[in-house]
Amino acid sequence: MSKEKNTGGSAGKGSGKSRIPGAGLAKGLAVTLKTMTKRAVTQGYPEVMPDLPPRSRGVIALFEENCTVCMLCARECPDWCIYIDSHKEVVPAREPGARDRTRNVLDRFAIDFALCMYCGICVEVCPFDALFWSPEFEYATEDIQALTHEKDTLRAWMWTVPAPPALDERAEEPKEFTMARRAADKLAGGAQKPARPPRGGDAE
Ligand code: SF4
Ligand code: SF4
Repeated sequence: MSKEKNTGGSAGKGSGKSRIPGAGLAKGLAVTLKTMTKRAVTQGYPEVMPDLPPRSRGVIALFEENCTVCMLCARECPDWCIYIDSHKEVVPAREPGARDRTRNVLDRFAIDFALCMYCGICVEVCPFDALFWSPEFEYATEDIQALTHEKDTLRAWMWTVPAPPALDERAEEPKEFTMARRAADKLAGGAQKPARPPRGGDAE
């Protein structure tokens, strides 16, 4: 059997390495000189705007036109910081004999960003694509109450939402595109068809 001795590290007593006086100082100065010649990584905000990734979670924007007041986002928000008020409106029937319909009209949609923890659950659960992340971040304030933003501000932030990334080249065309193209083709085809001569007219 062979016995191995635990030496307790190479730099311990009796390791045989001699210490050069001032070696630590020279090493420190070398690091300082190396760092001095590198380009600074600090950014001069607010004079220079940071180059943020397009999908940054800056603020939540509302596409009001898509909101059906289903209340799903407010129910799922773990912080209960989405406030929605609405009323019902009667939409008259389009055809005689049909029934009138009712629809929800959004009166208030507000998010308290003092409570929001930017989890993104509301954006994920919205079934109608009415909530989006915007990289906008310049809404800091000293007044905590001013961090509750109403639907007009949330709607205005929609203009700062980046366009979605392009689809994979082999992906299927979204069905909305297909339907819109078919409708446009149909309209164009109808416009090119020669007008039918009137019945009983003197067609040659
Ligand atoms: S990001 Fe999260 S905490 Fe903020 S409003 Fe949406 S669900 Fe609520
Ligand atoms: S989940 Fe979407 S559609 Fe429903 S209330 Fe919220 S924002 Fe509006």
